[in-house]
Amino acid sequence: MRFPHLLGNERLKQTFSSLPLEKLGSSLLLTGPKGCGKKTAANDIAMAILCTGNEKPCGACPSCVRFSAGTNSDYEFFGGKDAVYNVDNIRAFRSRSFVKSGDSGTKVFLIADADKLNPQSQNALLKVLEEPLNTLFILTCENPFSLLQTVRSRCTLFTVEPLPEETIVTELSKENKYSPAEIKRVSALCGGSLQKARDLLEQGVSPYEEYAVSFMNCLDDEFSLFKLSKDISALSREDYIAFSSRLTELINDALSSSPSPGKLIKIYDYLDKQNKLMPLNPSVTSLSSALTAFCGGLTEE
Ligand SMILES: [Zn+2]
Repeated sequence: MRFPHLLGNERLKQTFSSLPLEKLGSSLLLTGPKGCGKKTAANDIAMAILCTGNEKPCGACPSCVRFSAGTNSDYEFFGGKDAVYNVDNIRAFRSRSFVKSGDSGTKVFLIADADKLNPQSQNALLKVLEEPLNTLFILTCENPFSLLQTVRSRCTLFTVEPLPEETIVTELSKENKYSPAEIKRVSALCGGSLQKARDLLEQGVSPYEEYAVSFMNCLDDEFSLFKLSKDISALSREDYIAFSSRLTELINDALSSSPSPGKLIKIYDYLDKQNKLMPLNPSVTSLSSALTAFCGGLTEE
C-alpha cells in the first residue's frame, strides 16, 4: 500500500509495501513521539483498507473520495482536544463497531492518544480488539508501555519515527512564510516533529527550548555540560521548570531508539526526583548544578 500523506518513515512504508493488507490483523498500535505523524499514518492505513480501487489507497474510488472529504461512514475517529476518554464514551464507540459497514465491507476505528484511556476503558476495548467483526482498530500513543499488557498484546505494533531535520526544513520552506534562518533554528529544536516546529515558529523559541536540546546533544561531553549549566542557572524558576519538562520529553522520545537506554533512564529518574523537590523551593542554580554533576558523573561510567 502507499502512504500518500505520511512524510519520511521509509522503514514503515517498506514494511507495509510488502505486507498484504488482509494480513494486517484486526488491531494495530502505532507508537512514536508527539507530532511525528502517527495520526497521518493511521489515516493513510484506514484510507487504504477502505479503498475499493486497485492501488490502495487510489484516491479516486467513492470510498477514497468520501474519506478525503471526511464523510466516509465506515471510518470513525476518537480523539482530539475535546474528546473525553471515559468508559461510557469508549463503550458507545465500541458498540458502533458492530453496525454493518458500507462499500468496502470493512470499518476502521481510530483511537488517538490511547494512553489517555484509563484501565477500565482499556478493558472495555479488549473484546473488540480480539474478536472484531470485519473491523480494524488502530490505536496511537507515545509510549506503548503506558497501555495495559492485555491491550498491547492484542495489537500489531508499528513505530512512526521522528522526521529528519532536512525533511522539516524542506516542508517549512515550501510554505514561504518564514526566513531560512528561522526554519533552520526551529528544525534543530523540534525533535523531528513538524507540528512542534510550527508551534515554535508561531509562539517563538524560549531559552529553555534551546537549552533542553543543547543539553541532550552534549550528554556525553562533561565540559560542554558544565558550560551550559552556567547559562541554565540564569533561567527564571518558571523557565527552569519548563526546561526540565522539555528535557524529560526529549529523553522519553530518545528512549525507544537508544541502543543504551540505561543512562537516559537514570537521567529521567533524576529529573523526576528534582521535580518532586520543587515544593521546597530549591534555587535554580543548585538544581542546575546538581543535574549537571549527576549527568557528568554518568559520562565517566
Ligand atoms: Zn480508493
